[in-house]
Amino acid sequence: MELPKLVVFDLDFTLWDCGGTWCDCLLPPFAVRNRRIVDRGGRQIRLYEDVLSIFDRCDRVGVPMALASRTEQPPWARELIELLGIARRFAHAEIYPSSKLKHFSALKTASGADFLDMLFFDDEMRNIREVGRLGVASVFVENGLNGKLFEDSLHRFGNRQPS
Ligand SMILES: [Mg+2]
Repeated sequence: MELPKLVVFDLDFTLWDCGGTWCDCLLPPFAVRNRRIVDRGGRQIRLYEDVLSIFDRCDRVGVPMALASRTEQPPWARELIELLGIARRFAHAEIYPSSKLKHFSALKTASGADFLDMLFFDDEMRNIREVGRLGVASVFVENGLNGKLFEDSLHRFGNRQPS
């Protein structure tokens, strides 16, 4: 099966939940309490249940991973990535407010992968539409990324027709 050359993930509501809001709406400083990551207001930041096993799956098949986030608070997002212990997982991370077209053009340059060889997950239809127009296989995520959606998307990617 043909695999993507790069898998790209959005952060908020795709990889993690920040107590029901976006990470740029949290109240730093962040703290680790009883192995839970919380903000000053007690909101918990956690990865969706299947996310670590999805990362392991990408590692096993040798597909590099990247982040593309439009958050208004890139330093907060980067700190949370560190606190969650997942920073080393990503070959590339484009984190700043802008259209995701900018993130993907940077990812293309950084990774050397063509848009047609990328697989992207995001919970906002606007990003799916924009990035999809580049030719990136873009998957809409509802209620957080899960293992089944990831596997189905990987298979669909492998079976896609050349355009
Ligand atoms: Mg999101």
